[in-house]
Amino acid sequence: MTMNVTQKIIAAHLVSGEMVPGGEIGLRIDQTLTQDATGTMAYLQFEAIGVDRVRTDLSVSYVDHNTLQMGFRNPDDHRFLRTVARKYGVVFSPPGTGICHQLHLENFAKPGATLVGSDSHTPTAGGIGSLAMGAGGLSVALAMAGEPYFIAMPKVVRVRLEGALTGWASAKDVILHLLGLLSVKGGVGRVFEYAGPGVATLSVPERAVITNMGAELGATTSVFPSDGQTRQFLAAMGREGDWKELVADADATYDEEVVIDLSALEPLAAQPHMPDRVMPVRELAGLAVQQVAIGSCTNSSYADMKSVAQLFAAAKVSPETDTLISPGSKQVLKMLAREGLVEPLLDAGARLLECSCGPCIGMGGSPVSGGVSVRTFNRNFEGRSGTKDAKVYLVSPLTAAMVAIRGAFTDPATWGTAPAVPDLPADVPSIRDMFLYPPADGDGVEVQRGPNIVALEKFEGFGDVLEADVLLKAGDDITTDHIMPAGAEITALRSNVPAISAYVFNRVDEEFVARAKACDNGVIVAGENYGQGSSREHAALAPRHLGVRAVIAKSLARIHRANLVNFGILPLMLEDKADYDVLALGQRLTVPVAGITAGGIVRVAVAGGGSVAVRNDLTQKELDIIRAGGLLNYVRLSKTG
Ligand code: SF4
Repeated sequence: MTMNVTQKIIAAHLVSGEMVPGGEIGLRIDQTLTQDATGTMAYLQFEAIGVDRVRTDLSVSYVDHNTLQMGFRNPDDHRFLRTVARKYGVVFSPPGTGICHQLHLENFAKPGATLVGSDSHTPTAGGIGSLAMGAGGLSVALAMAGEPYFIAMPKVVRVRLEGALTGWASAKDVILHLLGLLSVKGGVGRVFEYAGPGVATLSVPERAVITNMGAELGATTSVFPSDGQTRQFLAAMGREGDWKELVADADATYDEEVVIDLSALEPLAAQPHMPDRVMPVRELAGLAVQQVAIGSCTNSSYADMKSVAQLFAAAKVSPETDTLISPGSKQVLKMLAREGLVEPLLDAGARLLECSCGPCIGMGGSPVSGGVSVRTFNRNFEGRSGTKDAKVYLVSPLTAAMVAIRGAFTDPATWGTAPAVPDLPADVPSIRDMFLYPPADGDGVEVQRGPNIVALEKFEGFGDVLEADVLLKAGDDITTDHIMPAGAEITALRSNVPAISAYVFNRVDEEFVARAKACDNGVIVAGENYGQGSSREHAALAPRHLGVRAVIAKSLARIHRANLVNFGILPLMLEDKADYDVLALGQRLTVPVAGITAGGIVRVAVAGGGSVAVRNDLTQKELDIIRAGGLLNYVRLSKTG
């Protein structure tokens, strides 16, 4: 059978399922990565699984998001991550070393490997030919424990690149063009596989810009073949031994195709507040800009930074434009320093920040009120910068540098001759001794937690019957934000489920938590589309901590329903939506758990008389997971037989 690159990697890692688009497949995972914002929960979940060492070829824990240490919580998290990594065999990247995806590309990613990471931009490693996917913390914890990672077999889209980039157009403009073409929903259920003669014209860091922002298409992931460019990059990183050729068979087939003529691209910008609101930079000429931020996991490579430094060596930045620069890694920063390229950045008036995510998640560097901020990042959602009414535009580093110099968007036709993309120097410094490698045996290592880190409790499974009180009767369209609100004060408690649980539903019903604590088991009754919004695991985990055992709704949002299953909460739907009116706050319900079958209907008795019919859309495996008390218990049970 002839195969494309995606199919080749999947076939080499397939442990269950058929490679038919839409069907569930299980993949063996070679590598995992976590970042600190999601990592603490992932390692708490890993500990709860009860495996004594990670079972992947490589797992890396990066600290790059919450690097500011303005109170005890972030440093507590960092110490926990450092010690838990030592104990269980995970490589640890201390705060300040760099951004997870840039570091992983430089130091660890391999062609043909599978990688799951608890960060949505994990597909960056697709630039080197890995099949790299973003996932929830629990999925990453399970992958670390040697469990397969389950996805729907994606459709494979061939993105055929023709020609070569010219003038001021850069890799960022390739992905912005694709976003403008397909929209932020255009990649759902798909892998974007790059092919065609234009591929050879792009270096690995340029490819990684494109695969990084494939996440904004909603794609499963994006991948480039592994070719001479890949070999050259790996050799420069001192890892030529990790190279292997990985290209599509000549007559490989694809489910869909998009063609991009690289030579026709021009500098583009995504307008506020969506990465797919793309327009040519020339049409924005005249728009004054108060802030420029250069960096993030999308555009912080050596070549990106050197291009900016070269432009800044020739002209200062506008005094009206606050200009921030965060190199992606200490390796990048060392190369800039060695070549005398830090001085031009400083002399031009730019501010040099730590090698971390920084302004990308509003960790410092927020724009002025109502200001225009031009960023080389990948997301420009409203409020993400930390300033609710800021207007964020996404552009390439070349465009950002020219905007910083001019203090406004100007027509690229007035920028003169574009600089060539810099090559990596002959002697790239290694920073691999800055990572902390785990000892061969973690037995004697003590995991240090501090008051902000609380081990996950072990949830009980179900008996034959569930007696529970209705703790809340909610309306339609309850979001995960309603269930588990966000905000700096609350998310700082992400590693402490008992503490964060105090905020469950507090913006909907202030009495909810007290009610939940006053009874043993609870049920939430809701209207349509319960749990819509983000994939936030805490929206299931924290209610479970408070004793919620079932949700009875008119309908349930897909991702939240999956999280309910993972944490052992029964997701039930009213067979007759009119029965919503039969149920009321405080009623005692009796759910015949033993009688529930996958996809079946049972009657839930209401104390004092009457009953309602509820159905489920669970698979047998999901039902088994719930009966066991959640996915962690299910995996533990399957390991012990
Ligand atoms: Fe996420 Fe931004 Fe950090 Fe990238 S730089 S990992 S997008 S926070």
